Amino acid sequence: MSERRQRDNVSRRWLLLVGGGVGLAALINACTSQQASEPASETAAKTIPSRAATTSPSSSAAAMATTEATALPSSSSIATSAPMLCREAWGAQPARPGGTPQVPNRMTVHHSAVVLGANSNAPARIRADQRYHQDSKGWIDIAYHMGVDRNGNIYELRNPELVGDTATTYDPTGHFLVLCEGDYDQETVTEDMLNGVARACAWAAQRYSVSPDKLAGHKDFAATSCPGANLYAHIASGDIKSRIQNLVASGGGGLERACGPEAAARVAAIEAGN
Ligand SMILES: [Zn+2]
Repeated sequence: MSERRQRDNVSRRWLLLVGGGVGLAALINACTSQQASEPASETAAKTIPSRAATTSPSSSAAAMATTEATALPSSSSIATSAPMLCREAWGAQPARPGGTPQVPNRMTVHHSAVVLGANSNAPARIRADQRYHQDSKGWIDIAYHMGVDRNGNIYELRNPELVGDTATTYDPTGHFLVLCEGDYDQETVTEDMLNGVARACAWAAQRYSVSPDKLAGHKDFAATSCPGANLYAHIASGDIKSRIQNLVASGGGGLERACGPEAAARVAAIEAGN
C-alpha cells in the first residue's frame, strides 16, 4: 500500500495538514523520554494500519475544515470556539506514514519537562519536540495530539485518531494526549493555560464522546512526575475537569482549525512575544 493510500485511509482531513515546513533540530528531554528504559511495546505503534479509520465521526472534521479562513479571536476570550493553530502554521514536519488507528476514550495531560521561560519560545519548542520524537525516538510524529502554551494558544499536533507515543511504561492506546509546553514542577500555571487545556479536552470530549471524568495526568499511569506538581494539582482538584464541563455545557468547547496567513501571523506574533 502506498504512503498516500495509508494516510488517506487514516484520515483525509489530516492528510491536508502535513505539508508543513522545517523545524528546529534540538534534543529535548520531553516527558516522553524521562524513563531510562524504553519497553519494546513502545515501538509497536509503528505498525502500519491495516484498515481505514472509517468508524470515526466526520461531522466536526467538516466543521473544522470550513472554518480555516475565519479570523482569529483572542486566545483569552471565552467564545463558542477557539483557534487551533494548524501544523503548517507552527512549522511542523510532515507526519511519517504508519501509526495505529484509535478512537480516543480518555484524556491525559503532559508537560514537556523543559522550562519554557518566555512564552515566545513555545512554537520553537514544539518544533524541537517533534524533531526529537521523529529523528531520535523514531516515532511517526510528535507524541502528543494537541499542544497548549502558557498563553493558552492551542496547537494541532498528531492526528488524534492515531495512538500517541511514550517512552514510559503505559499503553497510550485510546488516550488523547495534551502537551503543555514548560516544566510545571518548576513553573507556575496560568489561567490561560488551564483554559487552553480545558478547550483542547472539551473538543475531544465532544468529538469522541469522552466523559470529562476520563481526564488524568501522565503520572496516573506511569512512574513519572509528568505533568508536574503545579499542573497536576489542577487535575487532582477537579479544576480542569470543571472547566471542561463548563465549556461543554455552555456550547463553548469548539475549536476552529486556523491555517493560512492569519494563523502564520498569529504564530509569528507569539514568537515576537505578543
Ligand atoms: Zn507525560
